[in-house]
Amino acid sequence: MNALREQLLSINNCLPLHTALVAVSKTQPVGIIRKAYEAGQRAFGESRPQALRDKASKLPEDIEWHFIGHLQSNKIKLVVGLAHTIHSADSEKLLIDLNKEAARRQCTQRCLLQVRIAQEETKYGFAPDELRALAASGFLAQLPHLQIAGLMGMATNTSDTAQIRREFRTMKSLYTELQQTCFPADPAFCELSMGMSNDYAIAVEEGSTIVRVGSAIFSVKN
Ligand SMILES: *Cc1c(COP(=O)(O)O)cnc(C)c1O
Repeated sequence: MNALREQLLSINNCLPLHTALVAVSKTQPVGIIRKAYEAGQRAFGESRPQALRDKASKLPEDIEWHFIGHLQSNKIKLVVGLAHTIHSADSEKLLIDLNKEAARRQCTQRCLLQVRIAQEETKYGFAPDELRALAASGFLAQLPHLQIAGLMGMATNTSDTAQIRREFRTMKSLYTELQQTCFPADPAFCELSMGMSNDYAIAVEEGSTIVRVGSAIFSVKN
């Protein structure tokens, strides 16, 4: 058994059945992604539109591509219709533009709303109060070509696990609140994308349904 397969297995063994693993392949060449595919992995995460396009064109069609990077409006044509899920819908304008592009293509694009929970200036995303206001305004219900499927967030990059846990807990309670106020009885609003290589075990304990793991999978020697 090769090291990549072993690593995928050991991570999957730590995940409950309701939590999916997206293998973040953003820094990996096509050959390595193919090895992970051959080991059984089907969901991969990319953070740059052009790289997503290029890799998708060279790899099997049954790969489920997740777009996880900041998306500029002038690049959305490369992503809409190709990504199974866009995790990084992080502004009102981007949502409007994504909806427009999906309408033009006559498709429904699955998206997660990115929430800014980390104590770091550089992270993109909606502030929790901003998202509450957007939900209350009815705006999220006016995007017929988007399927809003949940929330995505990144915890602070810190060794303070109590802080990480608090941030994930905040995400989960915001998710529950939005589900009740804005998406009641909508089974499509079901995802909480949180947890990366260093913190996915905590994220799982706090209710994550999708972990996005890169280096912990791909840093193994093959
Ligand atoms: C790079 C990245 C990941 C994966 O990070 P690792 O620490 O390599 O697991 C997850 N989510 C997002 C949004 C990323 O940009």
